[in-house]
Amino acid sequence: MLVLVVDDDKTMRILLRSYLEKASFHILEASSAEEALQACHKQMPDLILLDIILPGMTGMDLLKALKLDEALRDLPVIMMTSLDADENLALAFERGAFDFVRKPVRQMELIARVRSALRLKREIEQRTRNADALFELTRLLGEENQALQNQLRVDSLTGLATRRELDDTLARLWNGGQDPLSVLMVDVDHFKEYNDSYGHLVGDDCLRRVGNAINSCLSSPDQLAARYGGEEFALLLPGFDRAQASDFAERLRSSVAAIGLEHRASPAGSVSISCGVACRLPGDLAPRSLLERADQGLYVAKRTGRNRVVALSATSEA
Ligand code: GH3
Ligand code: MG
Ligand code: MG
Repeated sequence: MLVLVVDDDKTMRILLRSYLEKASFHILEASSAEEALQACHKQMPDLILLDIILPGMTGMDLLKALKLDEALRDLPVIMMTSLDADENLALAFERGAFDFVRKPVRQMELIARVRSALRLKREIEQRTRNADALFELTRLLGEENQALQNQLRVDSLTGLATRRELDDTLARLWNGGQDPLSVLMVDVDHFKEYNDSYGHLVGDDCLRRVGNAINSCLSSPDQLAARYGGEEFALLLPGFDRAQASDFAERLRSSVAAIGLEHRASPAGSVSISCGVACRLPGDLAPRSLLERADQGLYVAKRTGRNRVVALSATSEA
């Protein structure tokens, strides 16, 4: 450990050096405050032993300068004072001195105070490192958490919302009393055969393109499109009644048809979708009723030839 001894009295410096060296400290000496500052910038000590009374720039001035210096402000400073300079002590502590020793300096006391100052400095440094590490860890966990949140909310294949995001949004709209509120259930036709003919990777690509086509049909940030499962998509259309939702679904169906993606194993010759439409009805007790009715519509669309939109009314559902 390196101690900088600042005293204009050479005999004093020699005495302090001998005391401290006996306790295995390394010593730098300065005979003035100016010299001390230079020494600090040349080689950073671990602690400064500073005489309060110095000619020119005083020990108090040096203390102030140290605390204003970003690089030196955390250096512990032990002031040395004689009885007649006592009135300066309060100010020295105010200016950030760590401790003081009274002249004439006694060896045991000096060593004890220097050691205790260095111990505290080490502890503070350790705690700062721990706090920094904790801060960094918290930041990393935050990022990780955000990434996981995104995975839960955004479907990685299509970039559309996930089923979970759609379910949550639907629950929010429902509980907020959103009316009218429509839901579309969309399913790619003969997709198993598509995979079988072109392979799973091309199948993935097809789902991406269908997802894009669906996404480009959205006209307001309130509307939500999700990949609901394998080759199934679902949309929430707040403010849409049954007729408006059916029109929207029809536009969706045409946009997918318009991609013109070849599907040699489908009777249509190209990739198509079927769509079930449901609009909130007074008798609906939960969002589930809406999803189920849209699903029933989808089922009817499949049964009656695919590549079509079916919007069940309350009566046809019954
Ligand atoms: P339908 O016209 O009645 O909807 O028939 P379909 O063949 O589309 O329906 P089915 O449910 O029999 O098959 C769906 C297929 O979708 C089966 C499954 O392997 C495929 N699939 C589900 N998820 C993915 C996926 O992420 N990527 C690919 N490539 N295929 C998927
Ligand atoms: Mg399906
Ligand atoms: Mg299908």
